[in-house]
Amino acid sequence: MNAYLAIALFLFGMLIFGLANIVIAHLPKTYEVKKWKVRCDECGHKLSWRDQIPVVSSLLYWFHCPYCKKSFSLRYALIELLGGVVAVLLYAYYGCNLAWLTVFLLFADLTIIFMIDHDTMIIPVGLNIALFVYGVISLFTMGDFVQLSLTSRIIGMFSIALPMYLIILLVPGGFGGGDVKMMFAIGFFLGWKATVVAFFIGLFIGAIYGIYGLIRRKMGKKDHFAFGPSLCIGVVVATFYGNQLMDLYLHSF
Ligand SMILES: [Zn+2]
Repeated sequence: MNAYLAIALFLFGMLIFGLANIVIAHLPKTYEVKKWKVRCDECGHKLSWRDQIPVVSSLLYWFHCPYCKKSFSLRYALIELLGGVVAVLLYAYYGCNLAWLTVFLLFADLTIIFMIDHDTMIIPVGLNIALFVYGVISLFTMGDFVQLSLTSRIIGMFSIALPMYLIILLVPGGFGGGDVKMMFAIGFFLGWKATVVAFFIGLFIGAIYGIYGLIRRKMGKKDHFAFGPSLCIGVVVATFYGNQLMDLYLHSF
């Protein structure tokens, strides 16, 4: 690993996840970027474009409003720093190449889905379309790291999405429509093996979160909670270990 390159990638990661912060705040309201007016939660002062440039604004103001000096929610800082950490970890795994860029942008998309689904219980369809686009791009950029046949990718789109869709038909509200579209879109990136692994990891995390919620009595038995964030974690794990985990499972018989 080249230290200077790692620092540059860390800053680039903070920049992109800083932009992701802005998308998370505004995409649920409108796709029209022109209407994304950002105001300080505390003083209501309109933040100019300069106040919002990720990295620059974080270094200049350290996540404080430049007008009233109140600190922004810790969440913005954590997501921006996460971007830097993800960029460097992926650099250690893939090196600096197009595979790195593909997975980094995919993970930025997953982070946006995670936060928006957590906030609003909705996954904007544009984010799922983007997941599919990264799948198509991965055909050309990821060949050195994963060998997936086109058949595996196409089966991947249906392997989980179709059963989820059938469950919705039987048990309305069993899953959200956005979750189904997400597993459909990510299936092309992961291939069928890793897609199945991603779903079951997501289900496991969702179950733990659900039990935790019941114990804390924050939600009644009939309350729903967003399943998208659990699926996002499943997809991240499956991106690295999905195929191996499935082969391990299949060979255990
Ligand atoms: Zn302010």
